[in-house]
Amino acid sequence: MSSQQSKPHFGRIALIGIGLIGSSLARVVKRDGLADHIAVSARTQKSLDTAMSLGIADSVTLDPAEAAKDADLVVICAPISAYEGIGQAISGALKPGAILSDVGSVKEAVIRDLGPHVPEGAHLVPAHPVAGTEHSGPEAGFPELFDGRWCVITPPTGTNEDAIEKVADLWRATGSMIEIMEARHHDQVMAVTSHLPHLIAYTIVGTATDLEKSLRNEVIKFSASGFRDFTRIAASDPTMWRDVFLNNREAVLEILQRFNEDLTALQRAIRWGEGDKLFDLFSRTREIRRGVIDAKQA
Ligand code: NAP
Repeated sequence: MSSQQSKPHFGRIALIGIGLIGSSLARVVKRDGLADHIAVSARTQKSLDTAMSLGIADSVTLDPAEAAKDADLVVICAPISAYEGIGQAISGALKPGAILSDVGSVKEAVIRDLGPHVPEGAHLVPAHPVAGTEHSGPEAGFPELFDGRWCVITPPTGTNEDAIEKVADLWRATGSMIEIMEARHHDQVMAVTSHLPHLIAYTIVGTATDLEKSLRNEVIKFSASGFRDFTRIAASDPTMWRDVFLNNREAVLEILQRFNEDLTALQRAIRWGEGDKLFDLFSRTREIRRGVIDAKQA
């Protein structure tokens, strides 16, 4: 295996799930020759056929254990609710020294669901590429998806350092920047930066959907005034986001409580005509936007 600068190389990589994230990763591996063989498994034959026709798989199978057999690296790229079943299915197929990784948006639940199925001698190295779009499926992927984005790796205490470095090298090769973090901390950070914003978008768009027809038509017509940006986020995959909220319940509920308190304070400021309070908050939030742009995450 290589150093941080040179490209990593694997013998056999198995991707369990070949949607937006799995197929984007496969495209990078193919483009840069990072593996001798990419074995792909998915839930439906249709996705496997698509992966083959896109040229991003060397072999395909509906059986995740068959894909994982003899793999040096297995990356689960499926919805989190499928992890436990996949873990059970592939456990006996993981060879000694194999690395089991994933791309799930929540990390404590991943360790909970996969940990018990990692055999002696294999290494669990969970990861989360913090990149995505509102599109799903093998055709939605593209190799630049991870370029300049963060990939957070959350190895359980005592994980083999070499295995962590191999996973980090793979993500560096996609153009990602690496951050190693404790799973619980990852989930708290994502609750604020990703999960709460999605929940807000789902709420706003849901509220608009419930409006009486004439008003709803006007909302769509004038959506460029702000609503449009929420509709993009609220178009994100329903399975993925259901799983995120069910598997990061504690952190999301905690941040939601704080959000509700702040929203009530804003409501009060509007009711009492406290313009200074509104102006101060809006000025502070503008600064945050500048920080995001400076960090090249806009
Ligand atoms: P996606 O486009 O919907 O693709 C999901 C893939 O998983 C499909 O290939 C699907 O197969 C497969 N799958 C579903 N159930 C399976 C099972 N039981 N066994 C094997 N394969 C199964 O989803 P995605 O957006 O790539 O998300 C995948 C993971 O990435 C999720 O855990 C999500 O949290 C994480 N993630 C997503 C984003 C994002 O923005 N989308 C960002 C970062 C991380 P079929 O097509 O045959 O149904």
